[in-house]
Amino acid sequence: MNPESKRDMSSWRDRIRHTRRPLCVSLWSGAGGLDLGLEMAGFDIAVAVDNDGWAAQTHAYNSKALVLERDLSSPGATRTLLRELDLPAVALVAGGFPCQPYSRAGQNRIRHLVKHEQRSGVDERAFAWLSYVAAVQELRPRQCIAENVPELATFNGGLLLRDIVNALEDLGYSVDVRVLSARRFGVPQYRERLFIQAALPGTEIVWPEEEREGPEPTLAAAIGDLPDISPGKSWRDGERTSYEPKPGSEPPDWARAGMPKTARQWLTDHVSRNVREDDLEAFRQLPPGGTYLDVPVHLRRYRDETYTDKYKRLEWGRPSRTITAHMAKDGYWYIHPEEHRTLSIREAARIQTFPDRYQFAGYPTNRFLQIGNAVPPLLGRAVGAALQDARQGQGRASGIPRAAERLSRLGKERESMDAWRILVSEVVLGGRAGAKLFSELTKAFPDPVSALGAANGDPAVARLRELARKVLSSNEGKIPETAAEISRLAGCGPAQASVAESLITGGAPPKNVATMRMAARVAGVSATGSLTGIVFPILARLTAFGEDARTNQAAVEVARSVCRPDIPDCPACPLEEFCAHAVSGSAVVDVQTRLQLASATAG
Ligand code: SF4
Repeated sequence: MNPESKRDMSSWRDRIRHTRRPLCVSLWSGAGGLDLGLEMAGFDIAVAVDNDGWAAQTHAYNSKALVLERDLSSPGATRTLLRELDLPAVALVAGGFPCQPYSRAGQNRIRHLVKHEQRSGVDERAFAWLSYVAAVQELRPRQCIAENVPELATFNGGLLLRDIVNALEDLGYSVDVRVLSARRFGVPQYRERLFIQAALPGTEIVWPEEEREGPEPTLAAAIGDLPDISPGKSWRDGERTSYEPKPGSEPPDWARAGMPKTARQWLTDHVSRNVREDDLEAFRQLPPGGTYLDVPVHLRRYRDETYTDKYKRLEWGRPSRTITAHMAKDGYWYIHPEEHRTLSIREAARIQTFPDRYQFAGYPTNRFLQIGNAVPPLLGRAVGAALQDARQGQGRASGIPRAAERLSRLGKERESMDAWRILVSEVVLGGRAGAKLFSELTKAFPDPVSALGAANGDPAVARLRELARKVLSSNEGKIPETAAEISRLAGCGPAQASVAESLITGGAPPKNVATMRMAARVAGVSATGSLTGIVFPILARLTAFGEDARTNQAAVEVARSVCRPDIPDCPACPLEEFCAHAVSGSAVVDVQTRLQLASATAG
């Protein structure tokens, strides 16, 4: 629809006023992957906004939404735009604010440009989330969903995620975060994305259940039916390739759904980049799963210590590596499993689970970019179905927001330990603040000066005296605060030092085996994929930063005292009523095993 056409606008307004589906406003909507999934789950996308003209054209072509090409960097302008649209009640605000400032690849690129004085060190996009919060404030939807890269959870030491959670809580929402693995929702790739979900009182937060049973979705199932092509065939917009599934294969059920009758024999965008002669030779040498290091030395054009995975040949029997916006630059990470070429635009779209009817606007580079930046529609559908469950009071409600509140209250009820006592507990006694020796030591030696005179005897007392001596001689009597200082002075490992730092300063959540185990259990997650990447955002949501450091003391206490590795003492745990593990009795065995493995490796 054309926003300039009075007739189109009038019929759009009529549609959204009479739709029986919950209305959604989508910000930074890109090519519309998340929106397509939300639509499949029953939402009606009323408005979609993005400042990329090609992405906006793609979205407009494929959906009934009013698609606006606008910049959303200003919270004030975002609010004005939404106010002027005069929308009926909006049920959901969805948004994937720019992820480049937080993603590892994006940060590397920014650092490179700053170093070469090609851009300022301040990335305005890192503040785009303020526009998302402004939109929520303006529209007051019952539910909100935001999507980003998992690295957002650790950006700026975790403070950014905390700021976003706080801002939504200040608007009266309960908030939770989760990293979802796309392949657990039928998407044939190793893609993980962080979602922030918020809901007004009266609506629970429900996350989609991962499909843990059965085989993982494979590349063969996603693109194995597509015809062979020759690379580098010159691209022409709208050109079609004739389609018939390759013998012995068939398309996934979602891929050909909704194809217009006249297009059932056709496929668009099944074109791939030209391949240089030397690359062609290199590709020929690559076995399935092979990387740059499998290329014979005389065919390597890049420094192999830097570009160990410059080339990657995908494998039929596994999910693809994550489709990223990098595809717009080159396709070397995505070499076809059999043919000596990189993936075609349509193959990349298939791996992102866009159906073949979905048409993309722009030149091939623009199309790869849109596809790489998209939320896979099948992942969007799973998230949308969970949001619908929450609307209808179904599904397993997340206990994380209430568990966080409980820990915060517990922390406030407790007398905060001073920095010296925290060091005694964490460094001298290995976290045994409840032990008899702890109360004896801290009563007898309430500060480093008194501890200097501690008599020989128990090894813990000797450690205490040594610690006091180092604090007084190396640090002018000031208790060290950062993990690095603590580790240097007290000679303890990084995990111990980071817990001590977290308890002293409240700087970052107390990340160690015990607290990660507790967070995984409360959320009921199975930590497939990257353990830290999946569990840490939950721990960050559960604990606190800054002035509320006592919450962290409560979290550490619960994790160590009752959430024991073997059999947790749930009846004695203050989080029992909010804990997925306690409620379902399900053993999060893989988390447990992996945590122990991780700890053994770290130790
Ligand atoms: S209820 Fe049980 S499993 Fe859950 S956090 Fe408490 S002790 Fe751990």
